[in-house]
Formats: sequence, structure tokens, C-alpha cells
Amino acid sequence: MFENLTARLSNTFSRIRSKGLLKSSDLLDMAEDLKAALLDSDVALDVAEKFAAEISSVSESQLAEFNKSSNPATSIFNIIQAKLIEILGGEFRRINFAKKPPTVILLTGLQGAGKTSLAGKLANWLKAQGNTPLLVASDLQRPNAVDQLKVIGELAQVPVFAPEPGNGIGNPIKVAKEGIDFAKSKLHNIVIVDTAGRLGIDEELMAQAREIKNAINPDEVFYVVDAMVGQDAVRTAKAFDDGVGIDSIILTKLDGDARGGAALSISSALKKPIIFAATGEKISDFDIFYPDRMASRILGLGDIKTLAEQAKSVFDEDATKNLEDKFIKGEEFTLEDFLSQLETMKKMGSMSKLLGMLPGANSGAIKKQLEQFDDSELIKTQSIVQSMTPSERMDPKLLNGSRRARIAKGSGRQVSDVNNLVDRFTQAQKVMKQMRGGKLPNIPGNIPGIGAMPNMAPAPTFKNSPPKKKSRSGNPAKRALEERN
Ligand code: GDP
Repeated sequence: MFENLTARLSNTFSRIRSKGLLKSSDLLDMAEDLKAALLDSDVALDVAEKFAAEISSVSESQLAEFNKSSNPATSIFNIIQAKLIEILGGEFRRINFAKKPPTVILLTGLQGAGKTSLAGKLANWLKAQGNTPLLVASDLQRPNAVDQLKVIGELAQVPVFAPEPGNGIGNPIKVAKEGIDFAKSKLHNIVIVDTAGRLGIDEELMAQAREIKNAINPDEVFYVVDAMVGQDAVRTAKAFDDGVGIDSIILTKLDGDARGGAALSISSALKKPIIFAATGEKISDFDIFYPDRMASRILGLGDIKTLAEQAKSVFDEDATKNLEDKFIKGEEFTLEDFLSQLETMKKMGSMSKLLGMLPGANSGAIKKQLEQFDDSELIKTQSIVQSMTPSERMDPKLLNGSRRARIAKGSGRQVSDVNNLVDRFTQAQKVMKQMRGGKLPNIPGNIPGIGAMPNMAPAPTFKNSPPKKKSRSGNPAKRALEERN
């Protein structure tokens, strides 16, 4: 979503870095550049102006201090990073949980913001954290909203309280109240109440949301915002906050290709935190919103923390330990091990999304290459290995021409695909041996940022050609990171 902004910021940093010692006039130019870049990304004027003022207000004495360091641009970069984090909401905040369960969550927002899908994503996420959520269908207005929530509940395997058919029938306030009573009787520790949205702000909608709020006294009122909607989203959210009173924000459709101005402005405009973000249509496309991680992505530094968390959540510790033991004992890494690694990678979700969290992945050429990354390659590779017999997986040397032809047929692939996989695997085995012998591995065709992958994952395949090695970054912090690595 923030590619343009990332590219613009990167250019600005390159210019400032090339200057060496900095003058006040350089900072003023930079502040102007930043303001223009933010406005181009549809960020609210006052937010962009405040941002620029922060840079241009660096005093002469501060500047002299920066100029004493080996890299003055890095000090400026740090100010920008801190400011960006502040704009995105500063410190991350958790949901307000009730002292005495159930915690009641009210979802408000415009129709089409992704509220109903979000209810399922949130329930799914809370359930994975060990909670026992209940969904309550109080959107009795939008055609099919009740049925949609039931379907989503089934997908998340979370019960849905839906006594009314909706489509204009039933009293949403009564349903919300009964939903809370039902949750108490069934010992659900969280209740998520979905409410009706309209295509635009109207007093009737506000009054209904207000009445529901007064009736159920929620612990957290979320305003769900479609991040693809520009400045209008901020205006509507303000109206909602004035009319109903919201506690926090959830962004949806952060995977979209809009300029992202609303996402950047809304927290500081409303002085409310963004707590979660949805990044796709799948129920799992949802996570906590960390302002510092988002700032890091926007600045082209990637989001290694989230990447590491996602990896940790799917890694089977026993399997990893077995692999480590094999490595230490000097045992051969087999295609059977490779298959279990592929399973793990598949559990981590879309590779292009994951690789998008690497430093530099949100900019220019690499971004384009990632968009062309072929996620289905993992499944194809897996089907080839699955078409091998256990003895072939243990000893790939058995794979003669006729066996390879059989495997190709069994997996619906070409013999050349099987050959490719076996070659890559043999290469990976060699790397393991080199590493065991204390040498640095050298795998051709690595992707930038990952470097050599000792985990034997299939070499990433792109729908077109692999990305070119990136030149040194113009972004001082990223460059420092590159140089360190
Ligand atoms: P509601 O009217 O606010 O309840 O909106 P819905 O939950 O019905 O969502 C409206 C549309 O947006 C549906 O087609 C959803 O699949 C889609 N949608 C919701 N969240 C996301 C998201 O994070 N990314 C993308 N790409 N689409 C989304």
C-alpha cells in the first residue's frame, strides 16, 4: 500500500545522504520533500505539515551535533522514524479486556468497510489466543449480513448468536443485549457484536449504534476503516467518534494498492490507536497493528519482527530439533526432511507476503518481482516430492530416468521440473556439508535480503525472471543494516 511513499522517502534520504555535512537549508528542502510525499500519499494536510515542521525545527546546535557524527543523515532519519511511529499511533495498545468476563466488543463502521469479514477474522484471532469468543449478529439491515456472519463463524469455528433473519427484520438492540446474556450463560469470555453500516454517515445509523452502545456498555468500541478510502475515511471516522464515541480503530484492506493516506492520518487525526489490521480476504489475513513495525515497512526497513513471529508460530519444535540433531551428527539431509520443511513453509502462508516483510522489499524493482512471485510453486514442488517412493526420498541417487518420468507423470509436471528439483536438492545437501565443515555456504540464485538459505527451502521461483541484486540503499538506516550484514 505504501510503495509510492517508500520510494519517495528513499529518494529524499539518498539526496540528504549524498550531502555529507548538513546545513539548515538542506533540512528545509527535506521537510518540503517530505510534506509533498505525504500529501501525494493522501495524508491529511495538518498531519503532513506537522511532520515537516518537526524536521525543519531542528536547531542549529542540534544540527552541529549531528554533523559531528560519522553519518549526519542517520540522525535525521531517526527523527523521521520516531515521528512516523507517532503518527501511526505511537505505542501499541492491547484490547481493553473486562475485569469480569465477558469482554464486550462493538464493531462499527460504514457498509463495505469489511466489518462483517473482520468480525470473523477477529474472532478467529482471539480464539487462537485461547479465548472463547461469541459473534452476535446485530447488523439486521444489510441484505445477507446475518447469513454472511453465520458462514464466517463456521469458517472460524466460532458460534454465532443470530436469532433474527435480518434483511430489515428484527431489533438490533434487543439482539445485542440477548447476545451478551447468552454469552454469560455459555461462559464465553468475549462477545463481538456486529452492527449495521450505511454507505455514508446518517443520523439514523448513528442513533442505532449509540443505542446499542448504551444498551451493552462495551469494553472496546472499534471503528472499522477501509484503508483504501482516502481522506473521506478520516472525516467519517471523526463524525462517528463525535456521534457514537469510539475507542480504537481497525484498518482493513491494507493489501490494496491505494495510496494509504487514511491509514497514515487516521490515528493522529482521531487521537485513537489502531489496534488491528486486515490484509486480505482470507480469515487469517489479520494481525495486531504495531506502529513501529509499520513505520519500519514504510521506511523500507522491512518487518523482521513479524516475520520471525510468524515463522515461530508454525515451526514444529520437535521437527526442528530432529533436523538440528541430524545436522550435528552429520547425517544426510533427505527429501523426506525437505518435504516436512515444505509443509512448514506452506503453513506460513503466502510467500510473496512474507518476503514483502524483508528490508527493501517494498520498493521499486524488488516489489515488482515479489508481485510476480509464484506462490503455487511450493505446492508444485511438494507434489513432486510426494510422488516419490519413501526409498527414493531417502536416497535420491535411485532417481534414474524412468523413475523421474514416473514422478513427473504422477505429479502432473515435466521431467525437467523433477530434474530441477533434484539438482536444487543436491545443491542444498552440498551446502549442508559445507556448513558442517565450517565453510560459508554459497548458493547461486539467492534472493536479496535472504542470502543463502541453509533451510533447503525451494529456490524461490518467479513468474518472470529472478530479481536483480539490489544496489546499495539510499536510505541511511537500511544502508547501515546492509553494511552490517
Ligand atoms: P461490511 O459491509 O463492512 O460488513 O463488509 P464485508 O465484510 O462484507 O466486506 C466487503 C468486501 O471487502 C468483501 O468483498 C470482503 O471480502 C472484502 N474485504 C474485507 N476485508 C478485506 C481486506 O482486508 N482485504 C481485501 N482485499 N478485501 C477485504
